[in-house]
This record gives sequence, structure tokens and C-alpha cells, in this order.
Amino acid sequence: MAAQTMEQLVSLCKRRGFIFPGSAIYGGLQGTYDYGPLGVELKNNLKLAWWRANVWERDDMEGIDAAILMNKLTWRYSGHEDTFVDPMVDCKACKLRWRADQISGKCPSCGSTELTDPRPFNLMFKTQVGPVPDPESFSYLRPETAQGIFVNFKHVLDSTSRKLPFGIAQIGKAFRNEITPRNFIFRVREFEQMEIEFFVRPGEDERWHEKWVQDRIDWWLSVGLSRQNLEPYHQKKEELAHYAKATVDLLYRFPHGLEELEGIANRTDYDLGSHSRDQGSLGLRARVSPNAHATDKLTWFDPDSKQHVVPFVVEPSAGVDRGVLALLSEAYAEEQVKPAPAERLKPVEEALATFLRSAARNEKLPAAAKDAIVAEGERIAQGLGERLPSIAGLLSLPGADGIEVAKKLRGQVDPVIDEFYRTVLHFKPHLAPIKVAVLPLKKNHAGIVGTAKGIRRTLQATGAMRVVYDDTGAIGKLYRRQDEIGTPFCVTVDFDTLGEGKDAALANTVTVRHRDTMAQERVAVPELEAYLREKMR
Ligand code: ATP
Repeated sequence: MAAQTMEQLVSLCKRRGFIFPGSAIYGGLQGTYDYGPLGVELKNNLKLAWWRANVWERDDMEGIDAAILMNKLTWRYSGHEDTFVDPMVDCKACKLRWRADQISGKCPSCGSTELTDPRPFNLMFKTQVGPVPDPESFSYLRPETAQGIFVNFKHVLDSTSRKLPFGIAQIGKAFRNEITPRNFIFRVREFEQMEIEFFVRPGEDERWHEKWVQDRIDWWLSVGLSRQNLEPYHQKKEELAHYAKATVDLLYRFPHGLEELEGIANRTDYDLGSHSRDQGSLGLRARVSPNAHATDKLTWFDPDSKQHVVPFVVEPSAGVDRGVLALLSEAYAEEQVKPAPAERLKPVEEALATFLRSAARNEKLPAAAKDAIVAEGERIAQGLGERLPSIAGLLSLPGADGIEVAKKLRGQVDPVIDEFYRTVLHFKPHLAPIKVAVLPLKKNHAGIVGTAKGIRRTLQATGAMRVVYDDTGAIGKLYRRQDEIGTPFCVTVDFDTLGEGKDAALANTVTVRHRDTMAQERVAVPELEAYLREKMR
């Protein structure tokens, strides 16, 4: 099971510290999000998995980390100053602005069809560089990491003695002044990309393009996305960017729909050609603007033919934030631990119905908020037995808190959830923010606490996994809390561990509890590290 609605994810992310709205204390800044204590771990694990697979484990790749600020000429010759635009329209009635290609001739806010003609809006953030506010001393925050790779092509080539084919990989921030940021971290104004520019001989580009599409699908599967939620889409000729010979988008079934997670483009010799001097001598296949400023030719000298070659480029370009969203969505499940009896569901059903009636009548709620609450509430009510845990998400929707009977609903639902349900993130272990939680069966027993903290320190010292100690509740509750953040293993220290239980043979052993199956095993403490490493592989 995956997440059914974005609200489920937004609510969990905020509640448990994965992702927060940016600058919330000042009313927010649209299109920005902050990664919290668990979000930063998840995101780092995703980036590390990508780096490992694409840089460390390949023989044909180098990594770089280029500056976000670049000479503004980069953006002239890359084509971004002229062409990195989206069509923008204004609603003449309510004055809101929209991306023309995302609305169907009607203002999504007020419904008016009185819109201005679309005009191009450049998505780059302009910024001043240096202390003198001279009209020429500006640049842009990079809207993609790719250009940092192209302008370093020669540096990497010369410093590593690479031959074609080879690639350069980079992970880093990119900024786009999106007209309408939306869908949580799917479309934001500040995000991260994981990009590869793979340089090949002209003529070998199509074969490499196909290979990269397959490699990238395989990698997304390796981090846990399922094949049925991933769809390659071959862009039609009229959809291609001006520099691209072919582009395959990898679409993912996000809670809000099937949308782009990664794009894999055959960019021909456009980029290296565009940033080169003496372009006339290079035999370029792409049409580029004349470059009057570049100081070098971005070519590779082929020792066999004794000729300078401008490589073709295959670019797999993935969004880190969209990757995080896909992982969360895929991993999310609400599960019944045991069936809740009808007499326990009945009061929840009634409280939910009262809540929805009250929401529908509420005159202070903005229409959009009311619609969202009622739609989500009705969805839950239709399958209450299965969807009961979604009530937490319902109650965190904007405006829900202000509804009088919200507290009453929460009071009815919380104990039932605690007893009969769990929310789980079924992350692959290598992506889970926390790999192991060590839990004391009793939190004020010095022997148990000391042993548990000792185990946590020993496991953490291996450097192979993030391990936490948690004693903030009873054991059942602690398991649920770890399930909800995707911790694959809980290790429980009890009286048996200390040799003070009924079975002397259990001395110096702990219970290992598995997130997905909820199965429990007894493992000897000296074997614990090897056991966990093996299970995590
Ligand atoms: P879209 O059509 O969704 O605007 P794009 O085709 O402009 O995306 P690219 O320029 O190909 O995107 O960027 C490569 C990747 O960077 C995308 O596949 C996506 O994962 C990520 N990305 C692009 N724009 C954003 C954004 N505003 N917020 C989050 N991720 C983004």
C-alpha cells in the first residue's frame, strides 16, 4: 500500500519531524520547505545511495561540487536568459497569476475566464554580486546544476585523463521562481538535483541514452519504488526542449498524480558547443548561438583519429525532493494490527459524522479548506475500518483545528488507533533515517537503562548505522512510534537480558523486533551487530 493522499504525508512529515513549511513563524515563504531531524537523514541517505551507485560503483564517472553562483555569461550562452521561461497569465478578476499550461483557460481560484494573454516569465532568481549596485554586477541563482558540470568539462578531463565515454555527477541546490509552487515538496522554488552529464562519441549517443533510461529505472527500483508506480514517457517531437534530440521522462505515481520524477535527455553537442570559442571550427551538429566570450574549446582529443571531438551528452537529471516524496509515498502504509470490534468503531463513526456536519456548517472556514476537509472526511468515512488512522491527517488540514468538535473526535480516535492500528513507513533499511532503536522495557530500572544505553553506544560506534535510544513510552507505544518513522529494527532490553528473568538461558540476549512483520527474535548481545548488518544488507 502507498499513500492515498498528500495530506497523509504532509501530516506525518510535520508531526514526526521529516519536513516543515519554510519560515512558518513569519507566515511562511511559498515554495520553500525545511527538512527536520528525520527528513535530513532520509534525504542524505537517498543522495548517498545515488552517489554510491553512480560515482563509487562505476568505472566511468567522476563527481564534482560546483558553485551555485556562476558568471552570468554562463546563463546567456546556456540559453537560459532567453528560453528558461514559463507562460504566465493574470486573472483579471482576482489578480492571481498562473502558469498558462497548468490551467484550462479558467482561474483555479475564482473560476473567472477573464485572463490576460500568456506572456513569458523567466524562472531564474536574479541577484546582485558584490557590493557595488552596478547594473552589470548581477548573476542568477542556478536553476539547474548541469551548467556547473559543462563549464568544468575541461578541468575534469585534464585532471583525470579520462577518455570517452565518461560522466560527471553532481548533487546540489537549484532555484526556480516557479509561478505556482504546489503539491508539497513536488514543485518548490528551492530544491536539490542529482544530475549526471554523460559524455559520449557522436553516433554512440542513442545507445547510451537507452542504456541510461534502463539504469535509472533499475536504480529507482533499488531504493524501493515499485515498477507499477514508475512509467517511462517518451517525449513527442513537439514537446522536446530546443537542445534535445530525445527525452525520456520517468514518471512516478505521486499522491497527486502521475508526474515527472526524473528526465533523461540526449542533449547532443549543444551544451559543450555553446560554451566553446571558435565554434565554426568544431563541426557542431547542434545549432548554437555565437559565443564571443568563452576562452577555451570544450573538446576531447581523440588519440586514434587525432581529431578534436565535441562529445554528445546524455543527461539523467533527477530531483532529490521529488525522490524523497516518492520514497515517502511508496513506503507509507496504514495497517490494522488486529481488527477493532464494532463497538469501538461506532463512537468514532459518530464523532466523525458530527465533525463533518460541523465543518460543512462552519462559516469562518474558507471554501477551499472546507472542501478539502469534507472530501477527506468522506473518503475516510466510506472505509472507516481501514482508514481510521487517516483521521490524524484530516485533523491537521488547514482550519480543521478550529472546528469545535475536533477535540472530541481526536479523543475518540486516539485510543482506538493506539490499540488496533499502526502507520508504517516500509523504507528499505539503507534509506531509513534510523536503523535501530534500542528500547528499555522499564525506564527507571538502572540495570536495564544502563545496558540499553551501552548497546546503543556500541552499535553507533560501528559507524554503519544511525542508532537511537528511546524511553519515552511503554514498549508497545515505542514500537508504533518507530514503525511510523520507518525504523527497521527495535532492540528491547528486559530483565532476561540482565539474567534476572525466568529463563536463565536468555541472559545477555535481547529481543529484536522487525518493523515489517512485527516478528520478534531473541539475539545474543555479542552477535547483535553482525546480525543487524546481515539483515540490513
Ligand atoms: P517540470 O516539467 O515538472 O517543471 P522540468 O522538466 O522543468 O520539470 P528539469 O528541468 O528536467 O525539470 O529538471 C530535472 C529534475 O529536477 C526534474 O525531473 C525534477 O525532479 C526536478 N525539479 C525541477 N523543477 C523542480 C521544482 N520546482 N521543484 C522540485 N523539483 C524540481
